[in-house]
Amino acid sequence: MYDEYRKAGEITKVVKKEVELLLKEGTKVLEIAEFVENRIKSLGGELAFPCNISINEIAAHYSPPIYDETMLHRGDYVKVDLGSHINGYIADTAFTVKIGEEKDDMIRASEEALENAISMIKAGVNTSDIGAKIEETIKSYGFKPIENLNGHRLAQNDLHADVTIPNIATDEGYILKDGEVFAIEPFSTNGAGRVIDEDKVFIFKYLVNRPIRLGLARKVLADIRRNYPDLPFAERWLSKKFPGRKLDFALKTLMRNGIIYNYNVLRDEKRGSITQKEHTVIIRKDGCEVTT
Ligand code: MN
Ligand code: MN
Repeated sequence: MYDEYRKAGEITKVVKKEVELLLKEGTKVLEIAEFVENRIKSLGGELAFPCNISINEIAAHYSPPIYDETMLHRGDYVKVDLGSHINGYIADTAFTVKIGEEKDDMIRASEEALENAISMIKAGVNTSDIGAKIEETIKSYGFKPIENLNGHRLAQNDLHADVTIPNIATDEGYILKDGEVFAIEPFSTNGAGRVIDEDKVFIFKYLVNRPIRLGLARKVLADIRRNYPDLPFAERWLSKKFPGRKLDFALKTLMRNGIIYNYNVLRDEKRGSITQKEHTVIIRKDGCEVTT
């Protein structure tokens, strides 16, 4: 199992390095997402979730639809969040670049918050103390952590298992155990420090089977149950199998019936810009092993 976590992590390391070449003015986000996902697969991994490319005030959950013409512009804060898995053992990792410019303090704030968190992590540490360290680091740069986004435990075929790692100090925490696997992901912003849902949804997850009358929705559901029974999937992936505008209606039907979960695009409440850095780690008695 740990070898599979490591292998999934090695794949993300390669892809992160390669995708940096595409992170420049004029590249389409669609091209980036397709590159990341195809490369994970060509390196022998499977997709743990759709590649998220979230720009500026968008924190997460933006995975371009097939018709997306969005391009990168100079000065954009671009967060690339990617995940691979081997046999359900997931590597979840993310980084931020500013297009056409040098790394700045808001990017450093998230990076240093993650480094500080990683240096204190070992079995027996309370997640609340990790949150406090992340908060303190980000505030020392003059930014705010995003209080309602968290790191999370990973389990086989489970991207967001029970336990979370906060990005702020919390009243009650969880004591980390030897051998557990977590994704830690500080977010820094010059905005509100809280994210809200946008109406847009490009990423979904299967929840439960229910009878459904609408023909296309039934076909889409059968495909989802066969191919994405556990992990999140993109509207874009289905668009390749179910072309045309009716897919949207079918997905809405499945959402309304509680059959699939919708990951709405998340943005800062005051439309501040956001940076993020994320690694997956294996908790050990005397520290942690970073897999990504
Ligand atoms: Mn992630
Ligand atoms: Mn994550």
